[in-house]
Amino acid sequence: MPDRYAVFGNPIGHSKSPLIHAAFARQTGQDIVYEARLAALDGFTQAAITFAVEGGRGANVTVPFKEEAFRLATQLSERAAKAEAVNTLTFKGDEILGDNTDGAGLVRDIRDNLHFEPAGKRILLMGAGGAARGVIQPLLEAKPAALMVVNRTEEKAHLLRDFFNGIKTGGYADLQGRQFDLVINATSSGLSDQLPPLPDTVFSDGALAYDMMYGRETPFMRFAREHGTTVADGLGMLVEQAAEAFFIWRGVRPQTAPVIAQFRAA
Ligand code: NDP
Repeated sequence: MPDRYAVFGNPIGHSKSPLIHAAFARQTGQDIVYEARLAALDGFTQAAITFAVEGGRGANVTVPFKEEAFRLATQLSERAAKAEAVNTLTFKGDEILGDNTDGAGLVRDIRDNLHFEPAGKRILLMGAGGAARGVIQPLLEAKPAALMVVNRTEEKAHLLRDFFNGIKTGGYADLQGRQFDLVINATSSGLSDQLPPLPDTVFSDGALAYDMMYGRETPFMRFAREHGTTVADGLGMLVEQAAEAFFIWRGVRPQTAPVIAQFRAA
């Protein structure tokens, strides 16, 4: 019997995770089954426990259950504890191990696939929701010259200072007169076809603009392109965070480049 894994979310129909993990399993010769499971909005904890009792070995967790998964875990990695959000669960006997691979996936995509070294760079992170929280610690570990986090609701950005030493926080108005080498959009503004209010001068020469969204060109991507900036979407992050979860579960690191290329072509 192959080991079983799943991704839980609501909605979950469009999740690419089953296809990504199937590609990893084929490539590495691992005998696993990975399926998408819809959990009711008030039913994630029960669904995850049922899956574990049925013999499930691990699960990925996506919107809107990452905070609930954080509370469900009996042991947390340091990065998940900092993020207060979990996207990877491992079921081991009575223990539920919680990790968060989003930030590692982002940093790996930026470094290995986009060949952009964040060390010593000025980084701007837009957003203060789950996605932003998940990537702050791994970005700090990459030793940027500065990491500034801005949010539409400014207060939510300021609250992050209690969790992460060394970040600057503010609102979009505070960006006047500042330039950044890497600008990351961790807001959901693209979903409503909106552009966060960025000043025209925000990008340094040679800057990289990274949008965590994928599958469509967002107003942020267009804005960055119009300002002559290199632009990346979040597909690489999606595949890299999955590879990190696969590694946690299976102890084998799949090659991500062919999988990213396959999804880009599709
Ligand atoms: P949340 O709902 O937790 O947070 C949304 C954030 O976006 C908040 O900071 C919110 O600000 C901000 N926001 C929403 N609309 C606007 C707007 N029009 N202008 C400025 N700011 C806005 O979402 P998540 O953090 O979970 O997800 C954010 C995005 O990241 C999603 O699009 C998701 O698809 C993507 N993502 C991609 C991943 C990948 O692997 N590529 C992994 C995880 C997430 P406020 O607080 O003021 O409401």
